[in-house]
Amino acid sequence: MRLTDVAGPLIEAGQRMDARNWVPGSSGNLSARLTDQNIAITRSGVHKGRLKPDDIIDVNLDGQPAIQGIKPSAETLLHCQLYRLFTPIGAVLHGHSVAATVLSMHSSEIQFSGYELIKAFGYNTHEIDVRLPVYDNDQDIARLAAWIEPFLTRDPPIGYVIRGHGVYAWGTSVEHAFWRLEALEFLLQCEIERRHLA
Ligand SMILES: [Zn+2]
Repeated sequence: MRLTDVAGPLIEAGQRMDARNWVPGSSGNLSARLTDQNIAITRSGVHKGRLKPDDIIDVNLDGQPAIQGIKPSAETLLHCQLYRLFTPIGAVLHGHSVAATVLSMHSSEIQFSGYELIKAFGYNTHEIDVRLPVYDNDQDIARLAAWIEPFLTRDPPIGYVIRGHGVYAWGTSVEHAFWRLEALEFLLQCEIERRHLA
């Protein structure tokens, strides 16, 4: 994959995330795998609903940009970690939705039970309990990545939420990652509505 191959799908995914109000301000970040050593990721400080091709940059799996002087997203190392640990991952999408932010401030772990839509994650039945881990937020992204790594490798989750912050979703392609993010956001919204009724 070249940068020009993935820029279009990432720009479109940013627009779709913005339309759903998942990337307020300049929040969120989007990436796609280029090689086993490099990824394309949004640069820091740009609105993800208004991305231009120049806003998608090439970084290696240590988070270092191929062209010096262009700053990648602050959370680049969390993306790099997922590509490094899980070779099938082709794209990672991260947004700051209201549902993920609010629910993660009320729960140490979110569990989805009995939802038909859980099949979006490859399960063949709704009769299953699937957890979505919630990790504490940390402005030191390298420290946060190091802290969550054992949890990711021990029991790979369907995605994860950073408390009071947002959700990380991934897939084999940008489109697949978007489907999974959309499914996670749907499930998070359902949990909020369900708790209102309880
Ligand atoms: Zn974020």
